[in-house]
Amino acid sequence: MPRILVIEDEPDIQAVLRFALEKDGHQVTVAGNGGDGLQELRRAGYDLVLLDLMLPDRDGLEVCRIIRSDPSLATTPVIMVTAKGEETDVVVGLGLGADDYVTKPFRTKELLARIKVRLARAREEASDGDRRRLQFQGLVIDPVRHRVVVDEQAVVLTLTEFKLLHVLASHAGVAYDRYGLLDRIGDGESVVTDRTIDVHVRNLRAKIKPYDHFVETVRGVGYRFADGA
Ligand code: CA
Repeated sequence: MPRILVIEDEPDIQAVLRFALEKDGHQVTVAGNGGDGLQELRRAGYDLVLLDLMLPDRDGLEVCRIIRSDPSLATTPVIMVTAKGEETDVVVGLGLGADDYVTKPFRTKELLARIKVRLARAREEASDGDRRRLQFQGLVIDPVRHRVVVDEQAVVLTLTEFKLLHVLASHAGVAYDRYGLLDRIGDGESVVTDRTIDVHVRNLRAKIKPYDHFVETVRGVGYRFADGA
């Protein structure tokens, strides 16, 4: 039975959500503010979070950001529940990693359909992510979720840094010259030159300490990920 955490302060909406979700076969826990919600999520872990934007103690966006930056919670799907006129917040929320949103007043059927999609996708990603995940001691690279964890702490990499690390780490021991790396990480849009690769490597190393020595400089060539790391 999927377990859903509802973070919502309005009693009427709490009741509506609980009734609809339980009727649809979910196990529901309700938290009335952001702090309680996060505490409950950390304590018990949930399959999905329904997150109200306007909470009495803190902004739903802040709750979303905290969920996404905590590696033990980061893969939990989050659906934001917003009121009309909060479109700007929706855009920000999606940027912070919310998976979807519904606008109050919402139709129960639509909400249940969206929940079903998110739960199914999360299950797929979990198995796909486990299969493709790279781990070198305390450094974990998850190409499915674009996530890097250092000693159980999520680190925020830019897209370029992530691609750089993933290309190198998935071919450990292979030395790439700067142009070879450019070919593999360039997205055709942002300007990346051979010397900016050095800057990206420097920033990347700073972020993955104490595992920065895995990214080795090969003199006269470029970079490689340490073999047997
Ligand atoms: Ca509210």
